Amino acid sequence: MKRLLFFRGVLLLVFSLFGTGCGTAMLSDEYLANKAKGQFAQMKKAEKISSNASHKAMVNRIGKRISGVAQVDLPGTEWEFVVFDKKNPNAFAMPGGKVGVHSGLIDLAKGDEDEVAAVIGHEIAHVALRHSNKRMSQAITIGLGGVILDVAMRDKSDSDRMLAKGAYGVGTAVGLALPYSRTHEREADHRGILYAAMAGYDPRAAISFWKKMQKAGGGKMPEFLSTHPDSGKRIEFLQSHMDHALALYRQTKAARGEKPNP
Ligand SMILES: [Zn+2]
Repeated sequence: MKRLLFFRGVLLLVFSLFGTGCGTAMLSDEYLANKAKGQFAQMKKAEKISSNASHKAMVNRIGKRISGVAQVDLPGTEWEFVVFDKKNPNAFAMPGGKVGVHSGLIDLAKGDEDEVAAVIGHEIAHVALRHSNKRMSQAITIGLGGVILDVAMRDKSDSDRMLAKGAYGVGTAVGLALPYSRTHEREADHRGILYAAMAGYDPRAAISFWKKMQKAGGGKMPEFLSTHPDSGKRIEFLQSHMDHALALYRQTKAARGEKPNP
């Protein structure tokens, strides 16, 4: 019983620490942009870059239009868009405007430009919302949590220490090993379709793309543990913001003198 109470105390400590770093970006944008710049340069050396000219042209076109819209949130960013020759359907955007798209993602979208734009819009939204910064700030807070726990455990028996460390490990892994939290994913989904729409891309493509992902078996992981929220729930969420995004899309198309999709 005593052990159980103590254990609950440890879990409380872990979860209270979770809360503190959660919503704040503690690091400077310049610091992260510089770090990302170096990482991206390494990635370009280590990974195979696509030689598909039409893929490259498409991603650069999308990148130019969406970063143009996102510029208000990320002034002065040196954008760079690279297509990597990799099979798994993925894309990412790093602080400082370094964006990578895997050829496998363009293949899964069957070359549908609106769908690729939906994904790039989502990734750029993560950067605009400083999600990496918040995530890293949280990791630093949790790191301090580990030190506090070590000090607190100094007088306990070895087995208690092991138990506590185990609980701490599970807590931090589930909470932090995930690239983005579900809250961050939702924020990026919402902002992403608005970016895409304001850049003149059909925001409904976010939904058709997720349906393709679902079909390809992207949603097999349990929702709580997967890095992205369950595809079905994600589609529902996107749908709830679609009217607003569609109105923006139609406005942009009219301003560009183009015909929107029906
Ligand atoms: Zn995401």
